[in-house]
Amino acid sequence: MRTFSSEGIILKRVDFGEADRLITIFTKGKGKITSLGRGIRRIESRRAGNVELLNKAKLSFAEGRSLPILTEAEAIETYSNIKKDLKKVGLAYYLVELVDQFFHDGQESYKTYELLSETLELINELELDKAESVIRAFELKLLSIVGYKPSVNLCVNCQSKLEPNGNFLSPEAGGIVGQDCANGSYLLKPISSDEIKIMRFAHDMPFAETVKIKVPVSLSDKLKEQMKYYLEYILEKQLASVEFSEKINRMV
Ligand SMILES: [Zn+2]
Repeated sequence: MRTFSSEGIILKRVDFGEADRLITIFTKGKGKITSLGRGIRRIESRRAGNVELLNKAKLSFAEGRSLPILTEAEAIETYSNIKKDLKKVGLAYYLVELVDQFFHDGQESYKTYELLSETLELINELELDKAESVIRAFELKLLSIVGYKPSVNLCVNCQSKLEPNGNFLSPEAGGIVGQDCANGSYLLKPISSDEIKIMRFAHDMPFAETVKIKVPVSLSDKLKEQMKYYLEYILEKQLASVEFSEKINRMV
């Protein structure tokens, strides 16, 4: 039986059969993998504690008939400060859910692994009030990796310089649309210049810089809304395309 090993972060676990579990992992070397954990729900399973949701673990797999079978697991990092704080748990679940939704099984991305790993580390260590800025930076950096980076420097439609006021966020156009180009053909949401500035900064700067900025709560809340609006649109599009390609794969 062919085997392989990789370190990975546990994204999702779903009960399967009597005592088994399907475990979705974002691995360093092979991207997203859904594997079968046989007997993992039995109380004496040595692997169970190591593959808790959000853990980073060293994992070994054997090629199965349809899914890889998880044979060994040893936790490297359990992010214990996250697990002690429900709000942090919520944020971390959101990160793994986004990664799970943007990738299909077998899709590799070392950059995404590094990004997820670094972000979980920061959420684990930082005070909660700094965590939201980290999440915004994560969203923008992830969008960039998967090819949906919102264009926030110039008007996405005509490439002219953005005026300080009257701009809109359009997930459909793929970024910020200036007042002159804002018309009924796009889904538009007004966006302030402060919000645009933070989006630029969060995307371009390393996390170490992002966490230094103090963002007022009202502005942070608005940005969260903007990103939610943008991501929901992109994800719907992305999920539809994944579903489509999976349908095609099943047919051929
Ligand atoms: Zn324009």
